[in-house]
Amino acid sequence: MMSLRFYNTMTRSLEEFKPIKPGEVRMYTCGPTVYAPAHVGNYRAYTFEDILRRYLIYKGYRVTQVMNITDIDDKTIRDSSAKGITLKEHTQPLIDMFFEDIDRLNIQRAEYYPAATEHIDEMVAMVKKLLERGHAYRSGDSIYYKISTFPKYGSLSHMKIEELMAGARIDSDEYEKETASDFALWKGWTEKDGAVFWETSLGKGRPGWHIECSAMSKKYLGEQFDIHTGGVDNIFPHHENEIAQSEGAAGKKFVNYWLHNAHLIVESKKMAKSEGNFFTVQDLVDQGHDPLAIRFVLLSTHYRQQLNFTMDGLEAAKAAITRLRDFKSNVESATGSGENKAVNEAIEKAVKGFEEGLDNDLNISPSIAAVFDFVREINSIVADKGLSDSDREEVLKILRKFDSVLGVIFVEESEIEADIEEMIQKRLEARKNKDFQTADKIRDELLSRGIILEDTPSGTKWKRKIS
Ligand code: AMP
Ligand code: ZN
Repeated sequence: MMSLRFYNTMTRSLEEFKPIKPGEVRMYTCGPTVYAPAHVGNYRAYTFEDILRRYLIYKGYRVTQVMNITDIDDKTIRDSSAKGITLKEHTQPLIDMFFEDIDRLNIQRAEYYPAATEHIDEMVAMVKKLLERGHAYRSGDSIYYKISTFPKYGSLSHMKIEELMAGARIDSDEYEKETASDFALWKGWTEKDGAVFWETSLGKGRPGWHIECSAMSKKYLGEQFDIHTGGVDNIFPHHENEIAQSEGAAGKKFVNYWLHNAHLIVESKKMAKSEGNFFTVQDLVDQGHDPLAIRFVLLSTHYRQQLNFTMDGLEAAKAAITRLRDFKSNVESATGSGENKAVNEAIEKAVKGFEEGLDNDLNISPSIAAVFDFVREINSIVADKGLSDSDREEVLKILRKFDSVLGVIFVEESEIEADIEEMIQKRLEARKNKDFQTADKIRDELLSRGIILEDTPSGTKWKRKIS
């Protein structure tokens, strides 16, 4: 059997995946910079990371994922001050929107979402360590990373250190490869920053963008972990700088596998907040599109290929999801007797095809093709002979397994279940507070939706009314 392989940006080759601790994966996924709403291009990155996470879980790994929230950087400060509001007033609604979007795109929640503004102490400690170890120096009120002290600098983006401008300094968080230079770890306060500053042992100021990810990954994943991801635009300077900082401070290898997704483009241009050519998930929902169709578009192109986002693609995704859900209903209502050998064969073939694709650097197209072949084969068995109870359960079990990665078939059901559980909790609370009127209202409302509640010694259970 082939094992799981990833294309590692560091070595520019396919490598077999071996986690540091058997059975466990620790991964860091660069999250949103909350200065403007996240757009569909950003969600391509988060959907790729979701497929990665879900497939690792499918393979039996225990996953610890961290996704940072960059709520302080040049752009968040620029935009909050332009609006005349505090940094928090600017970023909080955007953070709320982000979580709403990932939920409706059925992106599984990471274990941790650390916000940069809540980890200033960790960043200060790391900058101090870099000063101590001779990788950083002070200039005025700011502190910079001296890239000439880190011979590996440039290895991720495959730049030669001789090409770098020795000794030049850059203050902004983002810059081009051509201007690679000593970058800011700590930015001394200037008037431009207004009320945004921290009084720390490094002085009055704020962190640079890159140190945020180094400090927060160390806190939640340790000095060394398995996988780090982001869009290709993160390779330089962001991830290059993260490596210099983390390895410079710890004196050991930071990350084993670097995975980067290609861009989502519109009319052959990268979708970007700065280009103004973007739309959000909400924009598409307002036009009547199902968020899960957006999810399907984002996941169905291999993550290292550019994805051209079109309305036709969205329609095709809708049709694909409908076909999968119709298949599920068809199987659920199928009856018949006797085990059918052909069902087992179809399952084995589908599992093999599904895993071969995803094992190969998450190449999802053959996996999706395997699922659709399975749909065709089982549908024809159902039409021909029907399905016995045990065959039906086997087919549904495997479909659920595929959907634990795809996340588009069984979603509605689980959403409804979560909703019912929430109402049951509210009813219990109302009863605890002796608010029987509200409690009864909730029971009646559920009943009108065909849900019957049963209070048992081990808690409230629910079942569907059979009509
Ligand atoms: P940002 O909010 O700009 O820090 O970006 C968050 C994530 O989205 C990063 O991993 C970026 O590389 C990624 N990203 C930004 N634009 C696109 C795009 N058009 N297509 C795919 N990924 C993107
Ligand atoms: Zn980052």
